[in-house]
Amino acid sequence: MNKKFETNAIRTQLERSQNLEHSVPLYLTSSFVFEDAEDMRASFAEEKERNIYSRYSNPNSSEFIEKVCQMEGAEAGFAFASGMAAVFSTLAALLDSGDHILSAGNIFGSTHSLFNTFFPKWNISHSYFKIDDFDSIENLITPKTKLIYAESPTNPGVDILDLEALGIIAKKHNLTLVIDNCFASPYLQQPIKFGADLVIHSGTKLMDGQGRVLAGITVGSTELIEKVYRFSRITGPVLSPFNAWVLSKSLETLAVRVDRHCENAMKLAEFLEGHTNVNWVKYPFLKSHPMYEVAKKQMKAGGCVVAFELRGGLQAGQKFFDSIKLLSLSANLGDSRSIVTHPASTTHSKLSTEERAETGITDGMVRVSVGLEHIDDIISDITQALR
Ligand SMILES: *Cc1c(COP(=O)(O)O)cnc(C)c1O
Repeated sequence: MNKKFETNAIRTQLERSQNLEHSVPLYLTSSFVFEDAEDMRASFAEEKERNIYSRYSNPNSSEFIEKVCQMEGAEAGFAFASGMAAVFSTLAALLDSGDHILSAGNIFGSTHSLFNTFFPKWNISHSYFKIDDFDSIENLITPKTKLIYAESPTNPGVDILDLEALGIIAKKHNLTLVIDNCFASPYLQQPIKFGADLVIHSGTKLMDGQGRVLAGITVGSTELIEKVYRFSRITGPVLSPFNAWVLSKSLETLAVRVDRHCENAMKLAEFLEGHTNVNWVKYPFLKSHPMYEVAKKQMKAGGCVVAFELRGGLQAGQKFFDSIKLLSLSANLGDSRSIVTHPASTTHSKLSTEERAETGITDGMVRVSVGLEHIDDIISDITQALR
């Protein structure tokens, strides 16, 4: 029976012990035992599929991976200790010295640093394409280009990239398309439908949804994930069983949580759009968003993040932040608690002013991760701070 997203998220259960527990227990064990010498030999020879050691696999991680694969329509996956462990390990597994990455310029700050600072040490180069100039993408492809990397919606500018168009370009040039789908969550958007080969998530954000654990996951074809798995089981950036257990539970409520996040975010975006102290508001499902039509095509709803620019730049920004009472000044997003951040002085402070400007981050820009508090309370805190 082909079950729906919400049902799979709740009913997928790979293990049940002789205690017949209803809710999956925590398999907090580093290793697993064998029946005899032959069992151990055959297991290590990979003649049978079974748990050997939790750096390779663990029942809690396997369940988390299985749920995300179902949500994303992927064949296989591997779970990591953090979103950045997923980004690094996935790309390190696929790329060789001399390879070139073609990436959107608007990407998560640490991914930007990985490409700029660390990959050049292993002779892996990159070019950044402008997300509003799709014609430039093909011009930047070189014989050494191996993959295209992008996020949509982007962090922190909430820009939208046309995933279908990227999929077509990747296919035409025989490139691997890797999408960081963290901002949408698998509930709102499934990039594989539009031609992505691999999908990466920071499980830390909407997947956990309650600001408790760090996690990452990569899903895609069996063939590509096999490479990611071989690299990762040796280098060891794996998700802990405890965090996997937390996340597997969190996914049971992903759909209802994200529905409410989106409802609250839409209301806040509409409120801000009419405010006199605000220059502009960006939210994928606002008609004023430059990529509104594309957002509607590829997403179920607009997500939890709203970006806006305060009138009055940096000074107004600082005053606004000091006036916030209820919302958290924090770096996370996708949490049940609403969070405000100031990218120019925090997450993107390592970028030069020019690089920031290119990715649409201005001095007065504020990013709100809209949580699950009552929307009236969220709006009233922001209203008094804007005043
Ligand atoms: C947070 C984030 C990451 C990194 O995830 P961590 O779990 O913090 O390592 C990667 N991409 C995006 C878009 C993110 O928001």
